Amino acid sequence: MTDLLITDVRPLGGPAADLLLRGGRIAALGAGLAAEVPDAPRLEGRGRLLLPGLVEPHTHADKTLWGLPWRPHGAGDTLESLIQNERRVLAATATPTIERAAGLLRQMARLGTTAVRCHVDVHPEAGVASVEALLRLKQDLAHLLDLQLVAFPQQGLLIRPGTYELMDEALRLGVETVGGLDPCGIEQDPVRHLEAVFGLAVKHGRGVDIHLHDLGTQGLWQVGRIVDFTARHGLEGRVMISHAFCLGSAHWDQVAPLAERLARHGVAIMTTAPADCPAPPVRQLRAAGVTVCSGNDGIRDAWSPFGNGDQLERALFVALRFDWRRDEDLAVAFDCVSGQAAKALGLDDYGLVPGARGDLLLVAAETLGAAVVERPQARTVIRAGRVVADDGRLVG
Ligand SMILES: [Zn+2]
Repeated sequence: MTDLLITDVRPLGGPAADLLLRGGRIAALGAGLAAEVPDAPRLEGRGRLLLPGLVEPHTHADKTLWGLPWRPHGAGDTLESLIQNERRVLAATATPTIERAAGLLRQMARLGTTAVRCHVDVHPEAGVASVEALLRLKQDLAHLLDLQLVAFPQQGLLIRPGTYELMDEALRLGVETVGGLDPCGIEQDPVRHLEAVFGLAVKHGRGVDIHLHDLGTQGLWQVGRIVDFTARHGLEGRVMISHAFCLGSAHWDQVAPLAERLARHGVAIMTTAPADCPAPPVRQLRAAGVTVCSGNDGIRDAWSPFGNGDQLERALFVALRFDWRRDEDLAVAFDCVSGQAAKALGLDDYGLVPGARGDLLLVAAETLGAAVVERPQARTVIRAGRVVADDGRLVG
């Protein structure tokens, strides 16, 4: 892999510097590097902001309708109605999963996302077909992004007989993470659900990522049990709770002891920063030492027409949700879609430091806060030291 020298960039809005990529990784970052390696191939930064590649910690690319004609939303308001509507919509969609998912993942890549965690449905009607499609894309799109998969029991694990065996099969095929879903609200048997999920994680040596929508004390109780299971099985740093609305629906006095345990046992929280229901209090959780990241969840699918795969937009939504306006707050919102998301996904060679993978994004913005607010579309994206998108379009 050849060297690449990126000249005149401003890392996270700081002073101008050059960045040298060697072997797909950051070899050096500092002022005046251009003079030291005069013969290296160059990319002119032209004073643009240099950011680490964006990280999408929670999406459902297998279910997107990306690339298809606009489809008016047709579900009712209940969770059951949404699940049934999705069955109907996907059954009536002729475009294969792999094609729809690839279109969305390429959209994410052209906007600067270089790592994605994708929950993939596993249930008796479809078996592991979607898992196989996404595993294929993990290989086919490796030049654009890291793709991590979660085997996700969207229709329930205990309440849909046969799903446990399919989850086991998905993990055997190479899926990295065991998914779970509302141990109380959907499954009605929280301990057995967690025993199944963590049992699969231990059996296959994998992490865990549980969708938890349940609110109030029932939700908080489940957060506590997930931490218990994490500690019991030695899975510190490999467990995420997605949504965890309950952390935002209770008074902080009730949440604080749980936050301390989440931090101590390395259980991360993912929020979309929803506008329509309680959201985990990002600032307080961070102050307590909890890893908090933000993802899009479903994008342009049967659940909602929203989303465009842009993690800078997700950062904007985080800031709007909490009414953050100061530059330092916008930087926290950016952290939720970059450093914190990378930490939650276990990407330990991430960042703007020598030795880190050369996954980078250049945007024409004055400051980090301006990048979040303006979301310039003409982005240059570097993946493992190679330019994969320029002027907002994939190249090559
Ligand atoms: Zn989800």
